[in-house]
Amino acid sequence: MKPPTRVNHPPEVLVPEDNRPLVAPIYQSVKFTMDSVAEAEKHNRGERQGFAYSRVSNPTLQQLELTLAELQQRPACLLTASGVAAINLALLALCKQGDHVIVFAEMYQPTRYMVRRLLGRYGVKHTMLSIEDTDGIESTLSSTPTRLLVFESPSNPLLKIADIVRITAAARSHGALTLLDNTFAGFHNHGTLDIDLFVHSLTKYASGHGDVMGGAVIGSHELISSMRRDFVIMGATLDPHAAFLIQRGMKTYFIRYEKQSQTAMAVAGMLAQHAAVERVHYPGLSSHRGHDLVLRQMQDFGTIVTFDLVKGADPARFCDSLKLFAISASLGSTESLVQPGQLMRPGDLSEQERQWTGVTDRTLRLSIGLEDQEDLIADLQQALQRAQTVGA
Ligand SMILES: *Cc1c(COP(=O)(O)O)cnc(C)c1O
Repeated sequence: MKPPTRVNHPPEVLVPEDNRPLVAPIYQSVKFTMDSVAEAEKHNRGERQGFAYSRVSNPTLQQLELTLAELQQRPACLLTASGVAAINLALLALCKQGDHVIVFAEMYQPTRYMVRRLLGRYGVKHTMLSIEDTDGIESTLSSTPTRLLVFESPSNPLLKIADIVRITAAARSHGALTLLDNTFAGFHNHGTLDIDLFVHSLTKYASGHGDVMGGAVIGSHELISSMRRDFVIMGATLDPHAAFLIQRGMKTYFIRYEKQSQTAMAVAGMLAQHAAVERVHYPGLSSHRGHDLVLRQMQDFGTIVTFDLVKGADPARFCDSLKLFAISASLGSTESLVQPGQLMRPGDLSEQERQWTGVTDRTLRLSIGLEDQEDLIADLQQALQRAQTVGA
């Protein structure tokens, strides 16, 4: 074998069957081969196990699919290159012209865009409601044949809590599918509820370190296999290296989420007592409108704390004064983040819908990281003080 041939057919290293790596390797290969055409044909006919092409399936992705599905208490999972790809491909795979979808003003903005603008273009109709209007959800479901109800809980950024038991019961009785974007609540929440499909942005808590993007759709074998081919053809596949990093991130998912939630609760408690703060939106506080619901529905209250400054305090000055919270979108990183209302302004909503979202120019969203709790609280306190001394 001459060198140019050799580099394309390198020596094989065989790992004995009884000598496995403790951490699964990254299958950074697009193609998989079989020893004969007959075996490849058998594989194509689904008569043997194996892999052929990584856009269809890949062992590194399969391990992550199995892990996430099990945590969310469903049997099957599809991975995508980002969270929005998971939502958008699910919507495309589930809806056809003439279908009706229920969505909410308090949703991740690209999801609203997808339903209103893109699906609208293909003749899918929608109704937009407030997630707290459970009566409105029930009456819409009974008056309009509905294919799908897409929702979030806790909502972004005001952490409103959906009444999931009532919503899913109404959807079930009217033959509508439910799709919950469970990114904020995480894989350990909502699994016991009667939800058809979960989507997650793996960019957040799953990867956990703010360095890789991904998405997942999780549900029954029947639903996921009905969507799998559409997903494969639309091609927003997760890269094996990204899947490996997310699998790695998942090892610390529970301790990160638990610690960040504990710190979030302490931060919310401090903010609720502070003179510069008008209102704290944290479902762990008994003053939160969804507190009773969240106690029934979730195991914890999450790692996001949203609050409104009092009139006259300067939110930009607050953000600029923080030393440990980076001004940034996104959430679920090990570093704490802050996002002011002026950077979360929903530009696509009517006045009524804007009121439902509750975002004002005095709203601030914190994503709590893994820094020391006392350091974070001290940093917030000094920034609150500076925010209040505008023009002083
Ligand atoms: C971030 C986020 C998404 C989108 O995820 P990407 O990975 O950024 O595409 C969807 N839904 C929610 C609730 C999110 O927070």
